Amino acid sequence: MVTQMINQAAWDLEDTYSELPELFYTKQQPAQAKDPELVIFNQPLAKSIGLQTEKLSGEALANVFSGNQLPDEADPLAQAYAGHQFGHFTMLGDGRAVLIGEKLSPSGERFDIQLKGAGRTPYSRGGDGRAALGPMLREYIISEAMHGLGIPTSRSLAVTTTGEKVRRETFLTGAIVTRIASSHIRVGTFEYAARWGSLEDLKALADYTINRHFPEIKEHENPYLSLYEKVIDRQASLIAGWQLIGFIHGVMNTDNMTVSGETIDYGPCAFMNQYDPKTVFSSIDVNGRYAYENQPGIGEWNLARFAEALLPLFQEDSEKAVATAQHALGNYAKLYWGYWLSGMRKKLGLAIEKEEDESLVKELLQLMENHEADFTNTFRLLTLNDQDNSELFTSRGFREWKKKWKERQTAELNTKKEMEALMKENNPFIIPRNHLVEEALEAAVEKQDYSVMNQLLDILSRPYDYNQIQEKYFLPPNPSDEPFVTYCGT
Ligand code: AMP
Ligand code: MG
Repeated sequence: MVTQMINQAAWDLEDTYSELPELFYTKQQPAQAKDPELVIFNQPLAKSIGLQTEKLSGEALANVFSGNQLPDEADPLAQAYAGHQFGHFTMLGDGRAVLIGEKLSPSGERFDIQLKGAGRTPYSRGGDGRAALGPMLREYIISEAMHGLGIPTSRSLAVTTTGEKVRRETFLTGAIVTRIASSHIRVGTFEYAARWGSLEDLKALADYTINRHFPEIKEHENPYLSLYEKVIDRQASLIAGWQLIGFIHGVMNTDNMTVSGETIDYGPCAFMNQYDPKTVFSSIDVNGRYAYENQPGIGEWNLARFAEALLPLFQEDSEKAVATAQHALGNYAKLYWGYWLSGMRKKLGLAIEKEEDESLVKELLQLMENHEADFTNTFRLLTLNDQDNSELFTSRGFREWKKKWKERQTAELNTKKEMEALMKENNPFIIPRNHLVEEALEAAVEKQDYSVMNQLLDILSRPYDYNQIQEKYFLPPNPSDEPFVTYCGT
């Protein structure tokens, strides 16, 4: 009865990933959840990808998003991949996620629908294949916030609790997040192919990736090199986007880096409050490898691992292949810098390019660091032209900087109003600050009260809206609440 109902949602799931050689996946049914309950559901997202979930009851939704009953055509699988974790190569794979299928949206975009926390797979190693409610809701909030901020990202469709406990340091409520991504092909998927597959396997993965993400390069003279260049560009743009809003991913391992250029795998990620380039939130990142200031360089390091995997496809002559890869990767820093500087210009209301802009931006950042100013709020207050009596804004250094900034604005062709509009579009009024996220999670997990989270999600869906947000949402945490640490493992 419920199965019949599930099929009414126009799933039309496809399964192109299983056209790859079998090395790349294992067919895997999700585990049965004892007593599934849907606790949050993203109806607008479901609709935007063409799912007609309004035809389903709450029970049917809980069943499908817990993996208890899948649409008839679903042929779920777990993907194999490897990756460099904190610099060390390891075999990985979906240890607690299953791909239930791919959905073509009404506009023809292909999306993976994946259940994370849906039980053990052949790639689980020592893990239980499960996930706890808090971290799954956290992924839901941060990924939806990133989408609102305009950063390419996987998105969250639903969270269901399983009715079972998962064992961590204590027993926690078990849950599954359903996430949507343009694919889950990772740099680590290529590393896996290069290490354990044949040249044909590697080529099959590269061809599949090109077909799926970059069909426009198919006819290029060296499509594999073009693939590499495309991913370099996407990652340079993505990481610049992170830096511009103060996002710290926390685990930039190569298995968490997509070829699509979307942010995925929200573990110990968080947004920076006070501007400090050395900020780290992850409890496991003891050496600060993935600190805010290191993210662009780690992007480059990961892309070098990607090149190593792709080398045999670039050219037969391995020395020439290395030179080709180095040449391509040589562009990354320039691309990154271009995206970052152009974004920073916009944050300062500047539309045209001037030589002195880079030093103008850097001086401001240095002042923010010296005076321990909040990253988001500094730009927000500059946008509002409402500098408070904070240490930064009352400092002589800032007054001098502001003079230079005003002077620089005179070179613009835009009117004052247009400059202000540009700043509003590029300086979020709010971000998912850790204390806000924690407050929402606590109410949901401890008291089954989802109202705090729903309200936060609503506000985070329009972070550039300068009109209607209460003060509570943009205030940084009390100094006593810091430092904030997030725990991986989940
Ligand atoms: P992540 O840190 O979430 O990117 O995960 C790193 C690797 O560990 C991936 O291969 C995951 O599938 C796997 N993993 C994480 N948690 C679990 C778990 N509870 N059970 C099985 N595998 C897991
Ligand atoms: Mg991962």
